[in-house]
Amino acid sequence: MKPPPFQYHDPRTLAEAVALLGKLENAKLLAGGQSLMPMLNMRFVLPDHVIDLNLVEGLSYIKEVEGAIEIGAMTRQRDVEFSDLVKQRCPLLHAAIKQVGHRQTRNRGTVGGSLCHLDPAAEIVAVAAAHDATVVATGPKGGREIKFADFPVAYMTPAIEPDEILTAVRFPLWPAGHGAAFVEFARRHGDFAIVSAAALLLRDGAGKISRASVTIGGISAAPVRVGDVEKAITGQAASSSLFRTACESCRQIEAVEDIHAPASYRQHLAAVLSRRALEQAAGLPAQPSARVH
Ligand SMILES: Cc1cc2nc3c(=O)[nH]c(=O)nc-3n(C[C@H](O)[C@H](O)[C@H](O)COP(=O)(O)OP(=O)(O)OC[C@H]3O[C@@H](n4cnc5c(N)ncnc54)[C@H](O)[C@@H]3O)c2cc1C
Repeated sequence: MKPPPFQYHDPRTLAEAVALLGKLENAKLLAGGQSLMPMLNMRFVLPDHVIDLNLVEGLSYIKEVEGAIEIGAMTRQRDVEFSDLVKQRCPLLHAAIKQVGHRQTRNRGTVGGSLCHLDPAAEIVAVAAAHDATVVATGPKGGREIKFADFPVAYMTPAIEPDEILTAVRFPLWPAGHGAAFVEFARRHGDFAIVSAAALLLRDGAGKISRASVTIGGISAAPVRVGDVEKAITGQAASSSLFRTACESCRQIEAVEDIHAPASYRQHLAAVLSRRALEQAAGLPAQPSARVH
């Protein structure tokens, strides 16, 4: 299939891109094109204008700022994968990014594109929820920050205005020595996950869990932070039996049902994968799962 006809624009500065977006009717931004191009070719979107962000200066970088890692919206997923800063300071993102599509798609796909596309199963989206990330959007009135918890407003609908461009995302860092793990179940390597689980753990000097973050992706319209699990394990010594019991509550998450899996299977995966992610984050040996009946 070929895309519908559209007018192509290639601004060189953010100000130019924002001005074009504010002025043109029915325009779409193009980042890595890994989701937009298939949607154009399948005629799911029919823009009159496509504004290409690839030549806009200053949107591709990874840096540490005030206790966070800030990543420019046009940073390629492959650059995140090979960033030593990300590997050392944000191990959850490092573990997750390798599970995003294929190296070919990661060569082009961007961090900002993934966040704005907001697929419920997207790994970067789950990591943003797990880390309580902050998204930076720029529009005609300047820049504003959006807490990631407020970013998904509906299925694949981010809280950015039609005249705004996502310019960066900030992942607040956890203290050195924290545990992190990202596990997912997909039918084939490189597919979107059916369900994923992200875990972050911090332990105190006595070995008790002092802070926990557990996120389930792919189960709902947006990733779900499972506060019940986080609460149940905080203050406790890490063990497989603790995690197994706590993660059972994931079976209560309201789950979507589609051609890939019924809701009950997603709920089962949520309980199993969150337990496995916690075991990995705590450095415990993996335990066998109970049979599904
Ligand atoms: C074969 C294949 C397998 C894949 N598997 C996975 C997977 O396992 N996990 C996963 O997460 N993704 C997967 N993807 C999707 C891929 O990661 C895309 O890179 C991502 O979804 C979109 O990023 P992009 O940079 O390509 O954005 P684009 O496709 O260019 O844009 C996506 C959407 O975001 C908007 N947008 C882009 N940038 C901005 C911005 N800065 N501000 C405002 N709006 C913006 C666009 O207008 C468009 O609506 C896969 C893709 C393919 C082709």
